[in-house]
Amino acid sequence: MNAPAPEKPAPRISFVSLGCPKALVDSERIVTRLRAEGYELAKTHAGADAVVVNTCGFLDSAKKESLDAIRAALAENGKVIVTGCMGAEPDEIERAAPGVLSISGPQAYESVMQAVHKAVAPPHDPFVDLVPEQGVKLTPRHYAYLKISEGCNNTCSFCIIPKLRGRLVSRPAGDVLREAEKLVRAGVKELLVISQDTGAYGVDLRYAQSQFADRAVRTKFIDLARELGSLGVWVRLHYIYPYPHIDDVLELMADGKILPYLDIPFQHASPNVLRAMKRPGDHETMLERIRTWRKAAPDLAIRSTFIVGFPGETEDDFRQLLDFLSEARIDRAGAFEYEPVAGAPANDLGLAAVDPDLKKARWKRLMEAQQKVSARISQGKVGKRVRAIVDEVGPSVAKGRTTADAPQIDGTIHIASHRRLRAGDIVDVRVERADAYDLQGTAG
Ligand code: SF4
Repeated sequence: MNAPAPEKPAPRISFVSLGCPKALVDSERIVTRLRAEGYELAKTHAGADAVVVNTCGFLDSAKKESLDAIRAALAENGKVIVTGCMGAEPDEIERAAPGVLSISGPQAYESVMQAVHKAVAPPHDPFVDLVPEQGVKLTPRHYAYLKISEGCNNTCSFCIIPKLRGRLVSRPAGDVLREAEKLVRAGVKELLVISQDTGAYGVDLRYAQSQFADRAVRTKFIDLARELGSLGVWVRLHYIYPYPHIDDVLELMADGKILPYLDIPFQHASPNVLRAMKRPGDHETMLERIRTWRKAAPDLAIRSTFIVGFPGETEDDFRQLLDFLSEARIDRAGAFEYEPVAGAPANDLGLAAVDPDLKKARWKRLMEAQQKVSARISQGKVGKRVRAIVDEVGPSVAKGRTTADAPQIDGTIHIASHRRLRAGDIVDVRVERADAYDLQGTAG
């Protein structure tokens, strides 16, 4: 009898995932398809049969990072498949990196898989059971991103995301909740709810009801938050546009159903600049709302994002922003220097561009001011007890995050413990020391 033919090694794909957590979820979906078809993930481009680059096109700096990654993959491998936000405008990629096998926009899973099949044929007998029911996740086992919709209906003048990702498309609540349930069954302890516009969830579906378990659930922000809050894990809300109805979720935070954490990009505080950005709110109104939120949920942590150097921004506008940061006591803030991204309506407002050096100086002043605010808030936690989730366990201390800290973007807490901790454990920690961003303490 002839010896069976030696088993052909599985084809290997090297994967580069750039951009925001929403792009990361797109990468997870492609990787899940690849694994389901029997492809393996390669650690290096050189050791792969092809490379997939999931790009970001939000800012010019992000586009540069994407083009650098594509060129590196071309140099190290030669078979490169490009997808993601920058793929929505292929010309720039074709000019800057000729020779890629295919280019597709965000969420173009089918065309990516077709391009992969063309580059390296799928194995004859894929082992579907290679893939866990919740799909392949690129985050540690104990937390996961839950993308609830795609696209955005807003028209912020500095932003091209609606052009890249289209209008708002919400996933029916039942689908989102079934995915969340699978993740919780698989051991996830923290769900990070993401989209371009989380607060607008369901408006495109007129908040239609959708079946979940034994009940109908409205596809609506507050209804979804309430349902997710009943799954017994941490639920963290991201990318919240400051709509008035956001206030409703504070009650769920006060009841401990949803983490007292709001990732709400305000972008600026000066009424003149916000008007030119086509964004709502102003200094006073936002301060008043934040005071109300903090009354409802005293432990509330606010993360926000700001743009400095928007066309026409004066020193007085910028001063208002710094004053707002301090009065609002924003826990965590990220800031961008305004970039005149091709296609952004703000480029055609006819407002004076802010000098690049002045933009950089304002960015630095904002981050320094924010560091002082964060340091004051952190110092206020010394001697207090905070809840923390463990991310990594070291030989002597564990590293984790409090309810006020999202992965990758916020601070960490270093936890000493008499008992052995594991990743995903949620523990009470007495805070002993603090710096601007990180805390130290002892569990128990
Ligand atoms: S809400 Fe966000 S994604 Fe939508 S247009 Fe504004 S900045 Fe862009």
